[in-house]
Amino acid sequence: MNKFWSDVTKNLSPYVPGEQPQDQTYIKLNTNENPFPPSEMAVKAINNNVSDSLRLYPDPEAKKLITAIAEYYNIDKNKIFVSNGSDEVLAFSFLAFFKNNNAITFPNITYSFYPVYCNLYNIEFNNFPLNENFEIDISEIPENSGGIIFPNPNAPTGLYLGIEAIEEVLIKNPNVVVIIDEAYIDFGGISAIQLSDKYPNLLIIQTFSKSRSLAGLRVGFAIGHQGLIEGLNRVKNSFNSYPLDTLAIEGSVAAIQDDKYFKDGCEKIIKIRNWVEKELKSISFYVLPSKANFLFVKHAEYDAEILYRELKNKGILVRHFNAPKISDFLRISIGTEDEMRIFIKELQSIVVQNSI
Ligand SMILES: *Cc1c(COP(=O)(O)O)cnc(C)c1O
Repeated sequence: MNKFWSDVTKNLSPYVPGEQPQDQTYIKLNTNENPFPPSEMAVKAINNNVSDSLRLYPDPEAKKLITAIAEYYNIDKNKIFVSNGSDEVLAFSFLAFFKNNNAITFPNITYSFYPVYCNLYNIEFNNFPLNENFEIDISEIPENSGGIIFPNPNAPTGLYLGIEAIEEVLIKNPNVVVIIDEAYIDFGGISAIQLSDKYPNLLIIQTFSKSRSLAGLRVGFAIGHQGLIEGLNRVKNSFNSYPLDTLAIEGSVAAIQDDKYFKDGCEKIIKIRNWVEKELKSISFYVLPSKANFLFVKHAEYDAEILYRELKNKGILVRHFNAPKISDFLRISIGTEDEMRIFIKELQSIVVQNSI
Protein backbone atom coordinates (compact mmCIF):
# COMPACT_ATOMS: atom_id res chain seq x y z
CA MET A 1 0.00 0.00 0.00
CA ASN A 2 1.30 3.42 -0.95
CA LYS A 3 -0.14 6.66 0.36
CA PHE A 4 -0.28 8.14 -3.14
CA TRP A 5 -2.59 5.44 -4.48
CA SER A 6 -6.10 6.46 -5.41
CA ASP A 7 -9.03 4.66 -3.79
CA VAL A 8 -9.53 2.75 -7.03
CA THR A 9 -5.92 1.53 -7.04
CA LYS A 10 -6.12 0.52 -3.38
CA ASN A 11 -9.08 -1.71 -4.13
CA LEU A 12 -7.72 -3.49 -7.22
CA SER A 13 -6.99 -7.23 -7.22
CA PRO A 14 -4.92 -7.69 -10.38
CA TYR A 15 -4.73 -10.80 -12.52
CA VAL A 16 -1.74 -13.06 -11.84
CA PRO A 17 -0.33 -14.42 -15.13
CA GLY A 18 1.57 -17.71 -15.33
CA GLU A 19 5.26 -17.62 -14.47
CA GLN A 20 7.73 -16.33 -17.07
CA PRO A 21 10.89 -17.21 -15.13
CA GLN A 22 14.24 -15.80 -16.22
CA ASP A 23 16.47 -17.85 -13.88
CA GLN A 24 16.91 -20.89 -16.13
CA THR A 25 15.40 -22.37 -19.27
CA TYR A 26 12.36 -24.47 -18.60
CA ILE A 27 10.17 -26.56 -20.82
CA LYS A 28 7.29 -24.11 -20.61
CA LEU A 29 3.95 -25.86 -20.48
CA ASN A 30 2.31 -23.29 -18.21
CA THR A 31 0.90 -20.36 -20.21
CA ASN A 32 -0.63 -21.98 -23.30
CA GLU A 33 1.88 -20.39 -25.63
CA ASN A 34 2.24 -22.10 -29.00
CA PRO A 35 5.40 -24.24 -29.10
CA PHE A 36 5.90 -23.61 -32.82
CA PRO A 37 7.38 -20.39 -34.20
CA PRO A 38 5.15 -17.80 -35.86
CA SER A 39 4.73 -17.85 -39.64
CA GLU A 40 7.96 -16.89 -41.43
CA MET A 41 5.89 -14.47 -43.51
CA ALA A 42 4.84 -12.71 -40.30
CA VAL A 43 8.42 -12.45 -39.06
CA LYS A 44 9.52 -11.11 -42.45
CA ALA A 45 6.72 -8.53 -42.50
CA ILE A 46 7.72 -7.34 -39.03
CA ASN A 47 11.41 -7.11 -40.00
CA ASN A 48 10.58 -5.22 -43.17
CA ASN A 49 8.85 -2.57 -41.10
CA VAL A 50 11.62 -2.06 -38.58
CA SER A 51 12.63 1.09 -40.41
CA ASP A 52 12.49 4.87 -40.51
CA SER A 53 8.74 4.58 -40.88
CA LEU A 54 8.49 3.87 -37.13
CA ARG A 55 8.83 7.66 -36.85
CA LEU A 56 5.16 7.83 -37.84
CA TYR A 57 2.09 6.87 -35.84
CA PRO A 58 0.38 3.71 -37.03
CA ASP A 59 -3.04 3.79 -38.70
CA PRO A 60 -5.38 4.38 -35.71
CA GLU A 61 -8.02 2.18 -37.34
CA ALA A 62 -5.62 -0.62 -38.37
CA LYS A 63 -7.58 -0.86 -41.63
CA LYS A 64 -5.08 -3.22 -43.20
CA LEU A 65 -5.60 -5.79 -40.45
CA ILE A 66 -9.37 -5.34 -40.41
CA THR A 67 -9.43 -5.92 -44.17
CA ALA A 68 -7.31 -9.08 -43.82
CA ILE A 69 -9.60 -10.49 -41.09
CA ALA A 70 -12.72 -9.56 -43.10
CA GLU A 71 -11.39 -11.41 -46.14
CA TYR A 72 -10.30 -14.44 -44.15
CA TYR A 73 -13.63 -14.94 -42.37
CA ASN A 74 -15.71 -13.53 -45.22
CA ILE A 75 -17.44 -10.93 -43.09
CA ASP A 76 -18.12 -7.24 -43.35
CA LYS A 77 -15.32 -4.88 -42.26
CA ASN A 78 -17.63 -2.92 -40.00
CA LYS A 79 -18.20 -6.05 -37.92
CA ILE A 80 -14.56 -6.23 -36.78
CA PHE A 81 -12.68 -4.55 -33.95
CA VAL A 82 -8.93 -5.03 -33.33
CA SER A 83 -6.78 -4.17 -30.35
CA ASN A 84 -3.70 -4.90 -28.26
CA GLY A 85 -4.30 -8.56 -27.37
CA SER A 86 -7.68 -10.06 -26.63
CA ASP A 87 -7.24 -9.16 -22.96
CA GLU A 88 -7.54 -5.53 -24.02
CA VAL A 89 -10.51 -6.32 -26.27
CA LEU A 90 -12.11 -7.95 -23.20
CA ALA A 91 -11.27 -4.95 -21.01
CA PHE A 92 -12.93 -2.60 -23.53
CA SER A 93 -15.93 -4.93 -23.88
CA PHE A 94 -16.61 -5.07 -20.15
CA LEU A 95 -16.73 -1.28 -20.05
CA ALA A 96 -18.70 -0.96 -23.30
CA PHE A 97 -21.41 -3.57 -22.58
CA PHE A 98 -21.31 -4.78 -18.98
CA LYS A 99 -21.08 -1.61 -16.88
CA ASN A 100 -24.81 -1.43 -16.19
CA ASN A 101 -27.01 -1.90 -13.17
CA ASN A 102 -27.58 -5.63 -13.52
CA ALA A 103 -25.00 -8.20 -12.38
CA ILE A 104 -23.30 -10.05 -15.23
CA THR A 105 -22.66 -13.79 -15.08
CA PHE A 106 -19.92 -16.28 -15.96
CA PRO A 107 -19.07 -19.86 -14.89
CA ASN A 108 -17.69 -20.54 -11.41
CA ILE A 109 -14.63 -22.10 -13.06
CA THR A 110 -13.33 -19.99 -15.94
CA TYR A 111 -10.75 -17.46 -17.10
CA SER A 112 -9.74 -15.65 -13.93
CA PHE A 113 -9.38 -12.29 -15.66
CA TYR A 114 -13.19 -11.78 -15.78
CA PRO A 115 -13.62 -11.01 -12.05
CA VAL A 116 -10.57 -8.75 -12.27
CA TYR A 117 -12.27 -6.54 -14.90
CA CYS A 118 -15.44 -6.52 -12.80
CA ASN A 119 -13.44 -5.35 -9.83
CA LEU A 120 -11.68 -2.67 -11.90
CA TYR A 121 -14.94 -1.21 -13.25
CA ASN A 122 -17.07 -1.95 -10.23
CA ILE A 123 -19.36 -4.30 -12.19
CA GLU A 124 -21.37 -6.76 -10.13
CA PHE A 125 -21.22 -10.40 -11.12
CA ASN A 126 -22.42 -13.82 -10.09
CA ASN A 127 -21.22 -17.28 -11.10
CA PHE A 128 -23.21 -20.16 -12.48
CA PRO A 129 -21.91 -23.66 -11.64
CA LEU A 130 -20.34 -26.09 -14.10
CA ASN A 131 -21.88 -29.56 -13.91
CA GLU A 132 -20.14 -32.52 -12.25
CA ASN A 133 -18.20 -33.21 -15.46
CA PHE A 134 -16.93 -29.62 -15.48
CA GLU A 135 -19.12 -28.82 -18.49
CA ILE A 136 -21.05 -25.59 -19.03
CA ASP A 137 -24.74 -26.40 -18.48
CA ILE A 138 -26.65 -23.56 -20.13
CA SER A 139 -29.75 -24.23 -18.00
CA GLU A 140 -27.69 -22.98 -15.04
CA ILE A 141 -27.24 -19.53 -16.60
CA PRO A 142 -29.40 -17.17 -14.51
CA GLU A 143 -32.23 -15.35 -16.24
CA ASN A 144 -32.22 -11.55 -16.39
CA SER A 145 -28.47 -11.16 -16.00
CA GLY A 146 -26.81 -7.95 -17.15
CA GLY A 147 -24.56 -9.83 -19.56
CA ILE A 148 -23.00 -13.24 -20.12
CA ILE A 149 -19.42 -14.23 -20.87
CA PHE A 150 -17.56 -17.52 -21.10
CA PRO A 151 -14.67 -18.91 -23.12
CA ASN A 152 -15.37 -21.63 -25.67
CA PRO A 153 -13.54 -23.94 -25.22
CA ASN A 154 -13.64 -23.02 -21.54
CA ALA A 155 -10.45 -22.28 -19.64
CA PRO A 156 -8.84 -23.96 -17.79
CA THR A 157 -10.96 -27.05 -18.47
CA GLY A 158 -10.53 -27.18 -22.27
CA LEU A 159 -14.15 -28.37 -22.64
CA TYR A 160 -16.02 -27.23 -25.73
CA LEU A 161 -19.69 -26.25 -25.96
CA GLY A 162 -21.57 -26.95 -29.22
CA ILE A 163 -22.89 -24.17 -31.42
CA GLU A 164 -26.57 -25.13 -30.82
CA ALA A 165 -26.16 -24.49 -27.09
CA ILE A 166 -24.63 -21.09 -27.81
CA GLU A 167 -27.53 -20.23 -30.09
CA GLU A 168 -29.95 -21.18 -27.31
CA VAL A 169 -28.18 -18.79 -24.92
CA LEU A 170 -28.49 -16.00 -27.50
CA ILE A 171 -32.19 -16.67 -28.05
CA LYS A 172 -32.92 -16.75 -24.31
CA ASN A 173 -31.01 -13.52 -23.60
CA PRO A 174 -31.81 -11.14 -26.47
CA ASN A 175 -31.51 -7.97 -24.38
CA VAL A 176 -27.96 -8.35 -23.09
CA VAL A 177 -24.60 -8.88 -24.74
CA VAL A 178 -23.28 -12.45 -24.82
CA ILE A 179 -19.49 -12.60 -25.21
CA ILE A 180 -17.89 -15.82 -26.40
CA ASP A 181 -14.14 -15.75 -25.74
CA GLU A 182 -12.75 -17.99 -28.47
CA ALA A 183 -9.06 -17.85 -27.52
CA TYR A 184 -8.76 -21.62 -28.17
CA ILE A 185 -11.36 -22.18 -30.88
CA ASP A 186 -8.86 -23.12 -33.61
CA PHE A 187 -7.81 -26.33 -31.85
CA GLY A 188 -10.88 -28.35 -32.79
CA GLY A 189 -14.01 -26.28 -32.10
CA ILE A 190 -16.41 -24.53 -34.47
CA SER A 191 -16.50 -20.75 -34.17
CA ALA A 192 -19.76 -18.94 -33.40
CA ILE A 193 -18.83 -16.35 -36.07
CA GLN A 194 -21.55 -17.84 -38.29
CA LEU A 195 -24.18 -16.71 -35.75
CA SER A 196 -23.07 -13.08 -35.71
CA ASP A 197 -25.29 -12.02 -38.63
CA LYS A 198 -28.37 -13.34 -36.93
CA TYR A 199 -27.80 -12.17 -33.34
CA PRO A 200 -27.03 -8.48 -32.73
CA ASN A 201 -26.16 -9.27 -29.08
CA LEU A 202 -23.32 -11.70 -29.89
CA LEU A 203 -19.69 -10.64 -29.56
CA ILE A 204 -16.93 -13.12 -30.42
CA ILE A 205 -13.40 -12.43 -29.24
CA GLN A 206 -10.33 -14.14 -30.68
CA THR A 207 -6.57 -13.77 -30.40
CA PHE A 208 -3.38 -14.25 -32.42
CA SER A 209 -1.60 -15.36 -29.22
CA LYS A 210 -2.41 -19.06 -29.16
CA SER A 211 -3.18 -20.62 -32.55
CA ARG A 212 -1.09 -18.12 -34.54
CA SER A 213 1.97 -18.26 -32.26
CA LEU A 214 2.08 -14.49 -31.71
CA ALA A 215 1.58 -14.04 -27.95
CA GLY A 216 4.49 -11.57 -27.93
CA LEU A 217 2.96 -9.34 -30.63
CA ARG A 218 -0.28 -8.65 -28.69
CA VAL A 219 -3.07 -8.78 -31.26
CA GLY A 220 -6.69 -9.65 -30.52
CA PHE A 221 -9.97 -8.96 -32.27
CA ALA A 222 -13.73 -9.00 -31.85
CA ILE A 223 -16.44 -9.88 -34.35
CA GLY A 224 -20.02 -8.79 -33.88
CA HIS A 225 -22.87 -6.62 -35.05
CA GLN A 226 -21.87 -3.17 -36.32
CA GLY A 227 -23.52 -1.51 -33.31
CA LEU A 228 -21.33 -3.46 -30.87
CA ILE A 229 -18.20 -2.63 -32.88
CA GLU A 230 -19.10 1.06 -32.80
CA GLY A 231 -19.44 0.80 -29.01
CA LEU A 232 -15.99 -0.77 -28.74
CA ASN A 233 -14.49 1.98 -30.90
CA ARG A 234 -16.02 4.64 -28.66
CA VAL A 235 -14.31 3.08 -25.64
CA LYS A 236 -11.00 2.53 -27.46
CA ASN A 237 -10.93 6.10 -28.73
CA SER A 238 -11.51 7.33 -25.20
CA PHE A 239 -8.49 5.37 -24.02
CA ASN A 240 -5.76 5.04 -26.67
CA SER A 241 -5.93 5.97 -30.35
CA TYR A 242 -3.20 3.51 -31.34
CA PRO A 243 -3.48 0.25 -29.38
CA LEU A 244 -1.90 -1.68 -32.27
CA ASP A 245 1.57 -0.59 -33.32
CA THR A 246 2.92 -0.70 -36.88
CA LEU A 247 4.78 -3.99 -36.35
CA ALA A 248 1.76 -5.69 -34.78
CA ILE A 249 -0.44 -4.66 -37.71
CA GLU A 250 2.02 -5.81 -40.37
CA GLY A 251 2.90 -9.07 -38.58
CA SER A 252 -0.66 -10.11 -37.91
CA VAL A 253 -1.78 -9.34 -41.48
CA ALA A 254 0.94 -11.65 -42.81
CA ALA A 255 0.08 -14.31 -40.21
CA ILE A 256 -3.57 -14.44 -41.18
CA GLN A 257 -2.65 -14.67 -44.86
CA ASP A 258 -0.29 -17.61 -44.26
CA ASP A 259 -3.22 -19.98 -43.88
CA LYS A 260 -1.49 -23.25 -44.68
CA TYR A 261 1.13 -22.70 -41.98
CA PHE A 262 -1.63 -21.84 -39.48
CA LYS A 263 -3.72 -24.90 -40.28
CA ASP A 264 -0.73 -27.26 -40.24
CA GLY A 265 0.31 -25.90 -36.85
CA CYS A 266 -3.14 -26.40 -35.31
CA GLU A 267 -3.28 -29.92 -36.71
CA LYS A 268 0.11 -30.78 -35.24
CA ILE A 269 -0.97 -29.57 -31.80
CA ILE A 270 -4.21 -31.56 -31.93
CA LYS A 271 -2.24 -34.68 -32.84
CA ILE A 272 0.26 -34.22 -30.01
CA ARG A 273 -2.61 -33.44 -27.59
CA ASN A 274 -4.37 -36.69 -28.43
CA TRP A 275 -1.17 -38.69 -27.97
CA VAL A 276 -0.33 -37.02 -24.62
CA GLU A 277 -3.89 -37.64 -23.41
CA LYS A 278 -3.44 -41.36 -24.02
CA GLU A 279 -0.06 -41.44 -22.29
CA LEU A 280 -1.42 -39.62 -19.23
CA LYS A 281 -4.39 -41.95 -18.95
CA SER A 282 -2.01 -44.92 -18.98
CA ILE A 283 -0.36 -43.61 -15.79
CA SER A 284 -3.62 -43.07 -13.90
CA PHE A 285 -4.45 -39.51 -14.82
CA TYR A 286 -8.03 -38.36 -15.25
CA VAL A 287 -7.98 -36.17 -18.38
CA LEU A 288 -10.83 -33.88 -19.40
CA PRO A 289 -11.59 -34.14 -23.16
CA SER A 290 -9.91 -31.01 -24.51
CA LYS A 291 -10.50 -28.99 -27.66
CA ALA A 292 -7.79 -26.50 -26.67
CA ASN A 293 -3.98 -26.45 -26.79
CA PHE A 294 -3.80 -27.70 -23.20
CA LEU A 295 -5.00 -30.58 -21.06
CA PHE A 296 -6.62 -30.30 -17.63
CA VAL A 297 -5.65 -33.37 -15.64
CA LYS A 298 -5.78 -34.91 -12.21
CA HIS A 299 -3.87 -37.91 -10.88
CA ALA A 300 -5.66 -40.71 -9.04
CA GLU A 301 -3.29 -40.44 -6.05
CA TYR A 302 -0.81 -37.63 -6.40
CA ASP A 303 -1.36 -34.18 -5.06
CA ALA A 304 -1.30 -31.67 -7.91
CA GLU A 305 0.82 -29.13 -6.09
CA ILE A 306 3.47 -31.75 -5.34
CA LEU A 307 3.52 -32.83 -8.98
CA TYR A 308 3.82 -29.18 -10.02
CA ARG A 309 6.83 -28.71 -7.72
CA GLU A 310 8.56 -31.96 -8.68
CA LEU A 311 8.16 -31.13 -12.36
CA LYS A 312 9.55 -27.66 -11.77
CA ASN A 313 12.61 -29.20 -10.07
CA LYS A 314 13.12 -31.19 -13.24
CA GLY A 315 12.90 -28.06 -15.40
CA ILE A 316 9.29 -28.40 -16.55
CA LEU A 317 6.70 -25.75 -15.80
CA VAL A 318 2.98 -26.54 -15.72
CA ARG A 319 0.14 -24.50 -14.20
CA HIS A 320 -1.47 -25.25 -10.86
CA PHE A 321 -4.41 -23.14 -9.65
CA ASN A 322 -4.84 -22.93 -5.92
CA ALA A 323 -8.58 -22.38 -6.28
CA PRO A 324 -11.74 -24.14 -5.08
CA LYS A 325 -12.78 -27.30 -7.01
CA ILE A 326 -9.68 -27.29 -9.25
CA SER A 327 -6.77 -27.46 -6.81
CA ASP A 328 -6.40 -31.21 -7.58
CA PHE A 329 -5.77 -30.42 -11.25
CA LEU A 330 -2.83 -29.38 -13.37
CA ARG A 331 -3.15 -27.52 -16.64
CA ILE A 332 -0.61 -28.68 -19.16
CA SER A 333 -0.01 -26.69 -22.33
CA ILE A 334 0.80 -28.75 -25.40
CA GLY A 335 4.46 -28.38 -26.38
CA THR A 336 6.46 -29.88 -29.23
CA GLU A 337 6.63 -33.63 -29.58
CA ASP A 338 10.14 -33.63 -28.08
CA GLU A 339 9.07 -31.50 -25.12
CA MET A 340 6.07 -33.70 -24.43
CA ARG A 341 8.18 -36.86 -24.62
CA ILE A 342 10.47 -35.45 -21.90
CA PHE A 343 7.44 -34.34 -19.88
CA ILE A 344 5.85 -37.80 -20.00
CA LYS A 345 9.13 -39.48 -19.11
CA GLU A 346 9.74 -37.23 -16.10
CA LEU A 347 6.15 -37.55 -14.96
CA GLN A 348 6.33 -41.33 -15.24
CA SER A 349 9.45 -41.36 -13.12
CA ILE A 350 7.74 -39.28 -10.40
CA VAL A 351 4.51 -41.25 -10.36
CA VAL A 352 5.85 -44.77 -10.86
CA GLN A 353 8.95 -44.43 -8.67
CA ASN A 354 6.95 -43.22 -5.70
CA SER A 355 4.20 -45.80 -5.92
CA ILE A 356 6.57 -48.77 -5.54
C1 LIG B 1 -4.94 -16.41 -23.43
C2 LIG B 1 -6.34 -16.00 -23.22
C3 LIG B 1 -6.76 -14.70 -23.50
C4 LIG B 1 -5.80 -13.57 -23.77
O1 LIG B 1 -5.14 -13.60 -24.91
P1 LIG B 1 -4.28 -12.36 -25.39
O2 LIG B 1 -4.79 -12.12 -26.74
O3 LIG B 1 -2.87 -12.85 -25.36
O4 LIG B 1 -4.48 -11.20 -24.48
C5 LIG B 1 -8.10 -14.39 -23.40
N1 LIG B 1 -9.00 -15.30 -22.99
C6 LIG B 1 -8.62 -16.54 -22.64
C7 LIG B 1 -9.65 -17.50 -22.17
C8 LIG B 1 -7.29 -16.92 -22.73
O5 LIG B 1 -6.91 -18.12 -22.35
